[in-house]
Order: sequence, then C-alpha cells, then structure tokens
Amino acid sequence: MTIGIWILGNQLNLEQAALLSSQNNKQETPVIFIESFEYIQKRPYHQQKLVLVFSAMRHFAEELKLQGWQVTYKIAENFETALDDWIKINQITELRLVTPYDHPFFNLIKSLKLECKINFIPNNHFLWSQEDFKQWTDSRKRFLLEDFYREGRKKFNILMEGDQPIGGQWNFDKQNRKPPKKSLNPPTPLWFEPDEITQQVIKDIKSYKIETYGNIEPFKWGVTRSQALQVLEYFLDNNLNNFGTYQDAMVTEEYTMWHSLISPYINLGLLTPLEVIKVIEKAYYEFNYPLNSVEGIIRQILGWREYMYGIYQIMDDNYADKNWFNHQEKLPEFYWDSSQTDMNCLKQILQQVEETGYGHHIQRLMVLSNFALIVGVSPQEINDWFHSAFIDGYDWVMVPNVIGMGQFADGGILASKPYAASANYINKMSDYCKNCDYKHTKRKGEKACPFNFFYWDFLSRHQQQLKGLGRMNLVLANLKKMDSKELEEIQFQVQQWKEKNRVA
Ligand SMILES: Cc1cc2nc3c(=O)[nH]c(=O)nc-3n(C[C@H](O)[C@H](O)[C@H](O)COP(=O)(O)OP(=O)(O)OC[C@H]3O[C@@H](n4cnc5c(N)ncnc54)[C@H](O)[C@@H]3O)c2cc1C
Ligand code: SF4
Repeated sequence: MTIGIWILGNQLNLEQAALLSSQNNKQETPVIFIESFEYIQKRPYHQQKLVLVFSAMRHFAEELKLQGWQVTYKIAENFETALDDWIKINQITELRLVTPYDHPFFNLIKSLKLECKINFIPNNHFLWSQEDFKQWTDSRKRFLLEDFYREGRKKFNILMEGDQPIGGQWNFDKQNRKPPKKSLNPPTPLWFEPDEITQQVIKDIKSYKIETYGNIEPFKWGVTRSQALQVLEYFLDNNLNNFGTYQDAMVTEEYTMWHSLISPYINLGLLTPLEVIKVIEKAYYEFNYPLNSVEGIIRQILGWREYMYGIYQIMDDNYADKNWFNHQEKLPEFYWDSSQTDMNCLKQILQQVEETGYGHHIQRLMVLSNFALIVGVSPQEINDWFHSAFIDGYDWVMVPNVIGMGQFADGGILASKPYAASANYINKMSDYCKNCDYKHTKRKGEKACPFNFFYWDFLSRHQQQLKGLGRMNLVLANLKKMDSKELEEIQFQVQQWKEKNRVA
C-alpha cells in the first residue's frame, strides 16, 4: 500500500495534518502539488493572487524536498489528469489530503474519478474543530459573535486572569473607532522584492491568455513562512500600538493604516492563527502594549476568523445563494475599472485593490460592500467580484463575510442589522469626501452624494422587512419624517443613476 499526499494551495504548513500523518515515512511518501490551468480560469482572479498562491506553493514544494519528501510539482491542464499520471507512476493506493476548507472545492475533489481511494484528514489549521463549533451552536438559539468570542477566550485561555478577562472587560471596541486626524502618520508596510521563483511565476502568468483582474506588478507580497513571520514581527514593532485606535479609519493613499496584512499568510497556512494569537499575547505581557489594540486584534483572529469559518462549515451549500432582500441589480462596471467612477471613496479604494489586491476591513465593509447593498446589487454578483479581486479571498471566508455580514443576504444569521450607511459615516471615518465632486451633505439634487440617495431609497424599499429587526427603528423613524415629495425626488435620482450606470 502506498499513500500519496496532495498539498492544496492554502495548506502550506509543515505541521498540516496530512504531512504530520506520514511524518515518519517521508522518503517513501510521494507528495504532489498541482497548478491547474482549468481552475484559474473559473473567474478573473487578481493577477497578484495567482502569483502569490503559485509562488508560495513552489517555495513550499522546495522546502519539502529539502526535508526529504518525494515531491512532484505539476503545471497541468486540470487536477484529474495530473493526479492520474502521478497515481499510476507511484502505484498509489490511497490519496491523502487535508479536507478542503471550501465547499465547492471539496465537492470538486469528491467528484474526481481516480484509481485509488481518497482519504480526507480533518484539518488542524483552525482553533475550533467542526464538532466543537457545532456543539456550541447546538447549545443556543442565536449565534452571537460576542458569546462565541468569550467562549474562545476561556477555552484557549487567552488574555485571561482566572475566569475573568484581563483588564476587567471582554471588549474595548468603544476605544477603537477614532476618526483620522490630519497628523496621522501610519507606518509603511513591510514589502518584499520578488525572488527568482516569484519572477518565474510572474512570467508564467503573463504568458497565459486568460481573463484576469488588477495589476500584476509591482508584486510585493511575501511568499514564504519566513517572510510571513517577518510581517508578523514588523506588525508588533510598528503597528500594534495604534492598531486598535485607528482600526476603522480610512485615509487617501494610506492603503494599510495600522492593519497587520497577515490575512494572505494565515489563509495560505504560512502562519497559523494560534501562533499569531500567542505571539501577540506574549508581546502584551512582555512589552505592555495597549490593551485595546491587543484585545482588538485577538478578537479579529480568535473571534471573527474562527466564527466565520465555523458558520460557513455548519451552513449548507445554498447559504451562498441566499438573497433576503431579493436584490437583482447588476454590479456597476466601475468595480472592475476604477477609472470609470467619479465617486472619490470608491475610486481610491478600487484603485488600491487593483494595485495590491488588498483593502482593510472598513474599506471592504462600509464602502465597497455597503454601496452594492444600498444599490441593490445581487449578493452573488458582489460576492463573485470580491472573490476575484482580493488577495486573501477563499470561499470559506468570502461567503460569510460578503453574503452574511456585508449584504445581510442571510436575513440576520450572522449580523443583527444590515451594514448600510450614508455618506455621513464615510465622511466621519475618512478624508475621501474632502476631495470629491459630490457633496456628502446633500441627499438630492445636483452633486448629491449617491451614498445618500441610495441609502434613503434602500430604507424606503425595505422598510417592512427592516421593521422586524428592532435595531433599525431609529433610522426608520427618520425616514418617516421625510416628506413624500423629497422621497420621490430621491427615487427619481436613484433611477437616473442606475440608467446612467447601466445596473438596472
Ligand atoms: C465584504 C468583506 C469581504 C472580506 N473578504 C475577506 C477575504 O476574502 N479573506 C479574508 O481573510 N478576510 C476577508 N474579510 C475580513 C477582513 O476584512 C480581512 O480579513 C482583513 O481586512 C485582512 O486584512 P489584515 O490582515 O490587514 O487584517 P487586520 O485588520 O490586521 O486583522 C487581523 C486578522 O483578523 C482576521 N479577520 C479580521 N476580520 C475578519 C473577518 N471578518 N473574517 C475573517 N477573518 C477576519 C484576519 O485573519 C486578519 O488578517 C472580509 C470582510 C468583508 C467585510
Ligand atoms: S461625497 Fe460621497 S462619493 Fe464622495 S467620497 Fe464622500 S461618500 Fe464617497
């Protein structure tokens, strides 16, 4: 009997479960990596995402060879042909791999016709196992993030003093919403020069005649575990102090603020969430970093990241098709080309995504997703766009974040109210409005900000559904106060905008 291990592009860790299971038998264990030409044509991926994943795979394959594993690296038309040959040549009787995190990919692998059995090994990448998460949800009616996060703090003993949270509070979010001030000076991110392997991947991607998105160069992401560790250390030294305070702020040309930029690396497996949490916790005890920042980032990883994964795993495959508001509009064309919009906030952020594949949480949630929500874009269209455009995008994290959190398409499983906002929020949390042709204070008429007329139109269109959510009562009361003539003018302006931008 010969066991062969298939390493997927987002399972690049020496401690991953399939490699661990054959650790004592490296020399006799064939290991395969596959770049599938068919797979990368499924959607117009950001070119830097393709470079990141393939370069990280090629680097990890080299690392495994040095460790003595029998590595085959295939650039193939599709997975099946690559696996068939390798299985025959190596007389493999069991194909072993870590269970894929993404449902569509898991289904794809299960549908492959191979001449050996497939053994899926439960993943050890996330802190919560699927069974434990299921048990947690079974014990309650509502799956509130805050409850889950507190449970995680206790379960993994993070930032705890006995059974109480350090600092006497579980959450310091109130301190973490400071708007940007003029004198803000965020650190420059740690970037890397492409080495020979990465340069070769860039050449390969450029030579493929496939539909893609975004700029391929300059490519500055790390592609190895050692670089990912450097990014983490750099974050501690330069960003952690202010991470919490300016977590929600957006500033023109400051693409990353004090954010960590570690999502591409944790999502590939180059870093594990537990090690990141432990390093941050240790730094807090040793160097006394502000607790609002430390707790803030730990909540993102131990709370949000684990929660999103857990929710995705317990939902059936049709969660991705949900559409509570029955939104059917097309995605405005300018999401694919920033030069086509004159709305400064969207232009700045879309340009940044084209250049880097990155946007921080508030840019994603309160500008890119918010606008699609209030326009009434189909949740599946905006989800597809996010999936194509982002460097750290995978189905397991994209679907709950976009369908659940951003678009409220699940009707409130994940969030208690829709993240819909007018220009007022964007003006408060960014400097974008200062340099915009539109007036953030106007909701109708010439130069009125589209975020405003779409926001009121959204509330008006869905007031019956929104009434049931309780937390929307205050804004609905404001809608009621608006005179009907003004609402009609707003609706007329919405129609005009849609016709001009061909979304209807
Ligand atoms: C509409 C939308 C789409 C998103 N798409 C993705 C995606 O494709 N991939 C992705 O990894 N994250 C996604 N997120 C979550 C979050 O925005 C990113 O993880 C974060 O911006 C990554 O940048 P960072 O590493 O600098 O994060 P930081 O702000 O430094 O946060 C630290 C880490 O916390 C984790 N984290 C924080 N929030 C979330 C969250 N809501 N879900 C999961 N992990 C979280 C990430 O691992 C992140 O690296 C999305 C959020 C929204 C609202
Ligand atoms: S005025 Fe409106 S469109 Fe312009 S930057 Fe502000 S929110 Fe965006």
